[in-house]
Amino acid sequence: DSECPFKELTIKIIIVGDAAVGKTSFIQRFVTNAFQSNYKWTVGVDFALKRIEWSENTAVKLQLWDVAGQERFSNLTRVYYRDAQACIVMFDLSRRDTFLGARRWIYDLENKCANLKDGSSIPCLLLANKCDLSQRQIYQEEIEEFCKEHDFIGWTETSVKEGQMVKESMKFLLEAVMVRC
Ligand code: GDP
Ligand code: MG
Repeated sequence: DSECPFKELTIKIIIVGDAAVGKTSFIQRFVTNAFQSNYKWTVGVDFALKRIEWSENTAVKLQLWDVAGQERFSNLTRVYYRDAQACIVMFDLSRRDTFLGARRWIYDLENKCANLKDGSSIPCLLLANKCDLSQRQIYQEEIEEFCKEHDFIGWTETSVKEGQMVKESMKFLLEAVMVRC
């Protein structure tokens, strides 16, 4: 109602995972709804912004942080994680090594991140990307087990290429953030 003041929240979301799993494509797809198939190696931390009218009296300024070329170190500086309110861990369903990589990423996150002010951990979503490809190397049961083991809020298959589950997964993650705001 009109008594309720308008709020604008800035929310930082980070996305981690091995090189070439589709992180930058995911951000691009979410922000501009475009997909590029030529692989560009970006260097340095980058972030994209998107404003979302969340409700009548709340707007969200989303900051999506991309590791951009630092994947080869399998760990990041604390600056990257600082004040993050949510995290996406992504792997490529067609490359088993990237699923193993997801374990390293979640360990790094658990070590360096960035708990919320009340001491609880930030909501993390696991994305199994490139489900449009036929050569799958990871069983669903393994993903589910991994998901439980590390308290992900959930996981889903995505195809950034085909725009499948991109918006939906971001919405799901944002809802988990917003209940805490
Ligand atoms: P990043 O290194 O994790 O940022 O990965 P990129 O976003 O640069 O993507 C790496 C490559 O995978 C690019 O050639 C993308 O076009 C391709 N790619 C990304 N998402 C998908 C997908 O869902 N399906 C397929 N087939 N290719 C994808
Ligand atoms: Mg990238």
